Amino acid sequence: MADEFMTEERTALTATVRDFTAEHIVGNLPEWERTGDIPRELHKRAGDLGLLGIGFDESVGGSGGDLADGYAVTEAILSAGGSGGLIAGLFTHGIAIPHIIDSGNQDLIDRWVRPVFAGDKIACLAVTEPGGGSDVANLRTVADESGDSWVLNGSKTFITSGARADVAVVAARLRGVSGAQGVGLFAVPTDQPGYQVTSRLQKMGWHCSDTAEFGLVDARGELITEQGFASLARHFATERLSLGVTGYATAARCVDLTREWITQRETFGRPLSTRQVIRHTFVEMSRRTDVARSYIRNMTLSDEVTVLDAIYAKQTGVNCAAFVTDRAVQLLGGMGYVSDGEVERHYRDARILGIGGGADEVMADLAARLLGL
Ligand SMILES: Cc1cc2nc3c(=O)[nH]c(=O)nc-3n(C[C@H](O)[C@H](O)[C@H](O)COP(=O)(O)OP(=O)(O)OC[C@H]3O[C@@H](n4cnc5c(N)ncnc54)[C@H](O)[C@@H]3O)c2cc1C
Repeated sequence: MADEFMTEERTALTATVRDFTAEHIVGNLPEWERTGDIPRELHKRAGDLGLLGIGFDESVGGSGGDLADGYAVTEAILSAGGSGGLIAGLFTHGIAIPHIIDSGNQDLIDRWVRPVFAGDKIACLAVTEPGGGSDVANLRTVADESGDSWVLNGSKTFITSGARADVAVVAARLRGVSGAQGVGLFAVPTDQPGYQVTSRLQKMGWHCSDTAEFGLVDARGELITEQGFASLARHFATERLSLGVTGYATAARCVDLTREWITQRETFGRPLSTRQVIRHTFVEMSRRTDVARSYIRNMTLSDEVTVLDAIYAKQTGVNCAAFVTDRAVQLLGGMGYVSDGEVERHYRDARILGIGGGADEVMADLAARLLGL
């Protein structure tokens, strides 16, 4: 099948990212999985190469290119031995920074967007609260106007890079305005006493990506937009697509690792790959991965991705990753189950994909409404 996704430019980009991953990530990943975060130095290296700004306009410090280029980076990191958790930690700004760029506020762009793309600063997005993540319109963190800035009070949880970030893009309720209309977005510097990290959460997977719980106690923030819910909704499609990409890219890596294993591992005097049950399982893993990859890649090239498209992409990538990582563990036997094995890590990492960025049930419900039910 012709592959319009892998242009010459993206092939070159992929090679660069694979080299970067091999040189700076793969050997260090087990240690970062143990320590629970990735070093700032990696952000700097990625920034120097222009990787953090891919898909963002040069006028705001980005590296140019389009969304599909960003997804090619995800594919390359995973295919070279990186991980979904590493991508979540290194590229957290991808879900935070677009809101600041959209605001057109040059001061905020100069202070936060450019340094983040350069790898000098880290940004996170804080929407979810201990009271719930799916029902964004009902969040409880409150913002009160106070002179030139705003004062925020409340708490956030499950925030990727929330412990390391220099700035949090925080969703908070404009005091006195209920429902979705009352959700604003604020740039909250984390180097102030009112930004209090209360916990670095231990998780099933994504160990190298810090996931924080934090309180806001009279924390100072600057308004990005009063239309925060609309801004979040606008960018959900990109986030969901990217989680779909992480899904099939994780599956593709597991297909590679499984092929290597079943062709080398011998039982009862023959390689596993000679057994029909193994061959058929492997074919099904490959087929599902190819179908998910071409469906989602094709969508990333489209001029307009609808909300429904993005939900389908996410569901397709999530289901593909769930099946393939599970079968990969099975075919590797005990080696698939032991900790610190790459397949075991992908199996655990992939589990978040159906929860974060819109959980499966909530996505299915939204899809049903979009289908007129
Ligand atoms: C590792 C990790 C990283 C994360 N990173 C971030 C981040 O950077 N920023 C951020 O803001 N959030 C982040 N999250 C939060 C994530 O977006 C939420 O976990 C997710 O939105 C679900 O919210 P919840 O956990 O509160 O579950 P709930 O909303 O309590 O839902 C629990 C379950 O019920 C289902 N459910 C909910 N409502 C309905 C319904 N009406 N009908 C049927 N089923 C329903 C859900 O699908 C889910 O299965 C992260 C979470 C994790 C685990």
